[in-house]
Amino acid sequence: MAILVPIEVIEPKRVEVRDLLSVMADILRKWGVDEPVVMKGDEVVKGERIVEALRRLGARYIPVKRSGEQDYFTPLDALGFYDELSPSRLRVFNNTLELLYRNWPTPLVRLNSLSIGEVRVWAKLEAYNPFSNSVKDRIGWYMVKKFIEEKGRVEKVYEATSTNTGMAIAALGAIMGFSSRLYLPASIQKASDILLKALGAEVVRKRKALTVEFLDEVLEDARRDGAVSLNQFENDANFEVHLRYTAKELDLQMQSAGIRAEAIIGGIGTSGHLSAITFYFKNKLRGTMRIYAVQPAPGETIPGIRRVETGMKWIHWIRPDRVIEVTRDEAIEGVLRVARRDGILVGLSSGAVAAAFQKLLELGEIGEGDYVVIFPDNGLKYVEQLQAYFEKRGI
Ligand code: PLP
Repeated sequence: MAILVPIEVIEPKRVEVRDLLSVMADILRKWGVDEPVVMKGDEVVKGERIVEALRRLGARYIPVKRSGEQDYFTPLDALGFYDELSPSRLRVFNNTLELLYRNWPTPLVRLNSLSIGEVRVWAKLEAYNPFSNSVKDRIGWYMVKKFIEEKGRVEKVYEATSTNTGMAIAALGAIMGFSSRLYLPASIQKASDILLKALGAEVVRKRKALTVEFLDEVLEDARRDGAVSLNQFENDANFEVHLRYTAKELDLQMQSAGIRAEAIIGGIGTSGHLSAITFYFKNKLRGTMRIYAVQPAPGETIPGIRRVETGMKWIHWIRPDRVIEVTRDEAIEGVLRVARRDGILVGLSSGAVAAAFQKLLELGEIGEGDYVVIFPDNGLKYVEQLQAYFEKRGI
């Protein structure tokens, strides 16, 4: 065995995630490291990229070569790969930040509404995050954390958001003492302005869709005012946090419950969570698990998810097996199906994922076995869309 050295004693290097992808893929495929790092004193003299890849994956130790050794393979489990996932079992927390990252994993629950016979569907409920009640707490926290680690502090954040990332950033600003200005696109429900203001943020409602032009305007405003734009659409902390936590949690949860998923189905907005999950499982399981991505049908809007061609970063690094299209009405029908069988009111993008699962069943793509759906948030923000749906049908 190599000597295990705590990773925090080694000064982090600024390396783009993109440049580490092939090393991370290799580590996940082998489920360990077979080329140990060589150190001289506190300096890494060989294997810097391995150290950084292990750091991004959340390992606690690096394997360092002892002279004269031949067999270097060190499995990820021995490197403390799962150590960060140590929930506070009795759920007592010292502050609301701990309530976020020490409360993970978010639950994985079997759904009656989508399971039939020997087809078992498990939903990962991201609404169990405390600030935005959505998957976006993870990226808000990690983008801010990484920014502070690099630059020391943050005073003012400007961010384009379809609500959830904005709520996470506003909440973190309240906790950590920075101000936030959040830019909402036209199509988002009115309630969002109120929710963001209640959390202490300044809200700018734009009369356009969340396009590249929209993002450029936010960046320009931030430059003008000396604010930070974390930019969830481009910031690799988005991909990284889902690789280090969301995907790993799901892996550990499935192992603990003896679930071997045939496929995972999820929506794509920035593409952060599904790209990271795809990368993790495609490498770890060497391509034996399928990944389905869900996007709105042409001309449809579903809050939180977008069409691939509108441009998103990480989905181009590693592609899902198939993209399924869903209309807004189908997404709402998915919400109602889950609500009326499982008693959980999920959000519209979760409803879209539920509807996509039904479509895959009809297409004959779903055989016996276990399936995982990722539900990004709950339905409380979408009362306006539900009301419009009911009114149209005289319900
Ligand atoms: N669903 C909801 C409700 C969201 O808010 C988002 C992102 O904003 C997504 C899905 C998509 O997640 P991602 O940005 O990781 O692709």
